[in-house]
Amino acid sequence: MRGFEFEQADDVQQAINRHGSSDALIAGGTTLLDLVKLDVMQPEKVVDVSRLPLKRIETLEDGRLKVGALVSNTELAKHEIVMRDYPVLSEALLSGASTGLRNMASTGGNVMQRTRCPYFRDPAMPCNKREPGTGCSAIEGINRNHAVLGTSEHCIATHPSDMCVGMVAAGATVVVEGSQGVREIPFEEYHLLPGETPEQEHDLLAGELITHVILDPPRGGGQSYLKLRDRASYEFALASCAAIVNLEGDRISEARVAMGGVATKPWRATAAEEALKGQPATRETFERAAEAVMQDAVAYSHNGYKITLGKQAIVRALRDATAAARA
Ligand SMILES: Cc1cc2nc3c(=O)[nH]c(=O)nc-3n(C[C@H](O)[C@H](O)[C@H](O)COP(=O)(O)OP(=O)(O)OC[C@H]3O[C@@H](n4cnc5c(N)ncnc54)[C@H](O)[C@@H]3O)c2cc1C
Ligand code: SF4
Repeated sequence: MRGFEFEQADDVQQAINRHGSSDALIAGGTTLLDLVKLDVMQPEKVVDVSRLPLKRIETLEDGRLKVGALVSNTELAKHEIVMRDYPVLSEALLSGASTGLRNMASTGGNVMQRTRCPYFRDPAMPCNKREPGTGCSAIEGINRNHAVLGTSEHCIATHPSDMCVGMVAAGATVVVEGSQGVREIPFEEYHLLPGETPEQEHDLLAGELITHVILDPPRGGGQSYLKLRDRASYEFALASCAAIVNLEGDRISEARVAMGGVATKPWRATAAEEALKGQPATRETFERAAEAVMQDAVAYSHNGYKITLGKQAIVRALRDATAAARA
């Protein structure tokens, strides 16, 4: 671990002014400190944003829900509006990490968390994401936990967040602020595919910070988040699915499906949504939707099981969301 300067910001403008491209922000610190200790991130300066006035959750006039970047994962999951109108997000949040970590973890920090690829976290190993141009150790290495959707020949790491999968399903906008002003980015476009530049993980420019995430107006229907993992708690997803199902009689009028654990970014499964629209809410329909998502999947030496697991996650999440819609 290398030394770094440390500063505290009391308002958003200070945070913007005080951090440059070689610096890092710290909110809850549950990701950043690990990566600094491992020498994976080497900021010259760390700017503490935990005191910024970004801790509110408020309903906007247009029905959207504005969530401050410093709202903790616990507060967001347990907020009465989120539990009532965005249960898929509440479930996703509560499936992540542990109670202690969720109490510290912030909304902005969760959006910005880095991959858990072990080669990324080991500076002795080549990794295009950590050190562009050095190669990807996972493609020919141990890739059991890696992605089958959205990969490239340069990186196959998964995005590890549960919260982000719930947000993609619910629909959201990321609000960022920097010296050039405020920008709003559709949540689905915020995280980037690895392509030829896996080191570019998101659409945040140097000097900007996330101030809010705004959730779309509630979609109603039945909602469910299913997370499949090696052990029942304190573990990242091998495959997860967030599903929102709206019914008209026995047919699906509208569905939103997002996936985690199988893709290089929080994955909107539009192929499933198209396969579900207007169809009877039956297991056969859910299976067709799951097939549609995974037809583009690419397996590597150890992660082919994720194609089957991902399909099972979709079918089960749709089954549970449909049951909730009927209840
Ligand atoms: C053991 C363990 C298990 C975990 N399990 C899960 C899990 O199952 N599911 C899951 O989803 N997550 C899991 N996590 C990850 C956890 O959710 C994240 O560490 C947490 O959400 C990060 O939030 P933070 O506030 O602590 O971020 P920090 O560590 O403070 O920051 C993380 C990154 O975000 C940047 N950042 C922070 N705030 C902002 C902002 N406002 N604008 C721009 N950049 C910002 C920082 O510079 C840093 O790069 C786990 C973490 C650990 C350590
Ligand atoms: S999968 Fe991505 S993060 Fe992992 S070693 Fe390859 S380039 Fe690095």
